[in-house]
Amino acid sequence: MIETYIDKQNVLLNGRQMFDVEITTICNKHCYICPREKFERINRKMTKETFDILCNWLPSDCDVFFAGFGEPLTHELCIEFIQKLHKSGRGTSIMTNGILLNKNLISQLFENGLDKLQISIIKKLELTRLPHFFSLIENKYKSRIVFNIITDTNDDELPIDVQDKLQYGGYRHYIKHIHKRAGLLYPPDFKYKLKTCASFFVDTYIDTNGLIQVCCNDINGLYNIGSIRNMNFDDLVEYKRQFLGNIQICNLCPNCTDEYRIKHFENINKK
Ligand code: SF4
Ligand code: SF4
Repeated sequence: MIETYIDKQNVLLNGRQMFDVEITTICNKHCYICPREKFERINRKMTKETFDILCNWLPSDCDVFFAGFGEPLTHELCIEFIQKLHKSGRGTSIMTNGILLNKNLISQLFENGLDKLQISIIKKLELTRLPHFFSLIENKYKSRIVFNIITDTNDDELPIDVQDKLQYGGYRHYIKHIHKRAGLLYPPDFKYKLKTCASFFVDTYIDTNGLIQVCCNDINGLYNIGSIRNMNFDDLVEYKRQFLGNIQICNLCPNCTDEYRIKHFENINKK
């Protein structure tokens, strides 16, 4: 049993790594839960050249998640990128707002190597979109699709009819709580008292330009660590090692209420 947070961070750092890759900052939706209006970086799509550098840069056994401050499916090379990652043996996931999904696109994504598709639904406004998504999902893909239901209240319960449709239809879902994006979105509260971070040691955010960000909450790249063009992956691990046991990684951390900053700790003793 691993007890101390520093030991847990060490286990995460030495384990299989995850990469949040922002293949675009362009989005086809406006969500009140998103800090995009605080975005000061230039909107752009990741180029094929940057993506190819990234593919050579990533460790061979890792999980890549297309997510970030843009809608991945608006990138015309999204499927090509997934195919390339899959062929090289990396795990692949996409987080989408679902606007562009149709039966054909879902099939193309999975047949070209996508492992997991997460569809975000804002609980307060969008539960009525679920039947539309159910109508697009063929049985053979159900186990690889998860509804990411985002709530900004402490009420995690879904209406009974929605629970029934998810459960009896065999659709997977989880509840995620909106957080304050390290103080950028709403005035920070301090729901999570734990003054340390797990996600920094297991998860790396790469922006459209190939810059390595400290985490997904640094939306303007104020604390970027380097670039995939001048820092190799082993150097990044050594850089992160300096922070083992620190109560703070960057100036955003004291205002961070992201439940995922500590969620990774919960899974360690299950491994
Ligand atoms: S779909 Fe995602 S990136 Fe786009 S506005 Fe909503 S939360 Fe932000
Ligand atoms: S802002 Fe939050 S998630 Fe990011 S490094 Fe700090 S504690 Fe971790």
